[in-house]
Amino acid sequence: MIAVYSSFIKNKLFIDGDWCSSADEKTFAVMNPATGELIAQVADATPADATRAINAAARAQITWAEKTASERSRLLRCWFDLVMQNQESLAQLLTLEQGKPLAEARGEIAYGASYIEWFAEEAKRIYGDVIPPLANNQRILVTKQPVGVVATITPWNFPNAMLARKLAPALAAGCTVIAKPAAETPLSALALAQLALEAGIPAGVINIVPSSQAQAIGEVFTSNILVRKLSFTGSTAVGKKLIAQCAADVKRITLELGGNAPFIVFEDADLDAAVTGAIASKFRNAGQTCVCANRFYIHQSIYDAFCQKLTAAMQTLKLGNGFTDEVTIGPLISLRAKEKVQSFVDDAVQRGARIAYQAAIQTPFQTSAAESFAQGNFFPPALLVDVPQDARLVCEEIFGPVAGLIRFATEEQVIQLANASEYGLAAYVYTRDANRIKRLSEQLQTGMLGINTGLLSNAAAPFGGIKQSGWGREGSRYGLDDYLNIKYLCEAFS
Ligand code: ADP
Repeated sequence: MIAVYSSFIKNKLFIDGDWCSSADEKTFAVMNPATGELIAQVADATPADATRAINAAARAQITWAEKTASERSRLLRCWFDLVMQNQESLAQLLTLEQGKPLAEARGEIAYGASYIEWFAEEAKRIYGDVIPPLANNQRILVTKQPVGVVATITPWNFPNAMLARKLAPALAAGCTVIAKPAAETPLSALALAQLALEAGIPAGVINIVPSSQAQAIGEVFTSNILVRKLSFTGSTAVGKKLIAQCAADVKRITLELGGNAPFIVFEDADLDAAVTGAIASKFRNAGQTCVCANRFYIHQSIYDAFCQKLTAAMQTLKLGNGFTDEVTIGPLISLRAKEKVQSFVDDAVQRGARIAYQAAIQTPFQTSAAESFAQGNFFPPALLVDVPQDARLVCEEIFGPVAGLIRFATEEQVIQLANASEYGLAAYVYTRDANRIKRLSEQLQTGMLGINTGLLSNAAAPFGGIKQSGWGREGSRYGLDDYLNIKYLCEAFS
């Protein structure tokens, strides 16, 4: 691999089109989770910096909204082209700071860019409406207007795509944005801003304030009256706090929170397809994905066969540094994350589950201090069987490469088990029975349902959850609604 990412390592705040230090000149360290090596010291935004970014976004919003839809569309399209021209550099940067295998990182860059392309097109289709009035000397018109300044807070698991998926619809609608990426992975966000600048997106339209002080920046975002909307992707616990904070001035809010996806395989399923789907859904990004399969419900008559096939497929997974060819599972983001996953496995075993398979750490990591750090972040993929329904592995979001299997006997029983969760983001079912598919489509409590597929996310589709998995949708034509206000005009005439 030829390293081509270095021109994309930006380590300043991006405010009003300028790269700048933080008000107190402090920085924080961004580390490679695979090696423990320092990648960069990045400017650490203070609350005063966040306020300055909000003011810049508020100034820019007026002229950005005044542009025609096709002007905004052209700029977004140009940005999309630049992202794709630099896909390799951005992918390397992503693997460097986040750890995912390079092939997956390339996929994430294309996936994130697809939202920019999609909303470049949708920008021109923000239609209003004319409604038949109740009196014939009236006209009822409906127009759509940008909500204004949007603050975003994004996580480290998809540092490019989670941000692109918010920036693109916001800009298409005529909003401007201040973004706080996760402190673990700010570089991908800053690189996106750099390309937006090159694409000609005006100063102040996108502002990025990386910070180690998440709570303090979140308080500035939610308490500043100039911010009209917050879009957050992250944990349900933080989402709930942000809802409370936004209540004070009734800010609009979009939340993409935790998930606990059931993956249900019926006795009539194509087992090989189910295993392929399970691997894609469970082990992508080392299991650190909110739509990851979290609980596997397998019909009792095919339980052993599925377990064998899944074990065989898991034996082909290769754990290691994401830059190494053929690696399919990178490190977890941190030692803390690894310890949490291990505690879920321990809890399940204590409650009676059995580890049917776990890869050994075969990585040649014993050679340097940095590499022994790395060994600390790697979690070998594991398969647990006979997991009880009350195990943490079943009830909570795992965010790691662990699959836990549970037997079921009937469709009614599995629907009840699948719905027994406060989350409702994604679910997956494998069956060939068309009537069963219809019943499950109606009854499963989820925002998204994969039917005979383990991958369901794309720019044309509405991504989002129900229950405590969030509010609003990202992507698709519905994804613009969250960035638009409806205005009703009642026109009387004589
Ligand atoms: P995770 O556990 O996956 O890191 P979090 O919800 O903690 O999920 O983090 C998602 C994003 O929310 C990150 O950008 C993080 O910095 C930010 N964040 C964490 N705590 C707060 C908070 N109290 N207020 C605002 N943002 C927060």
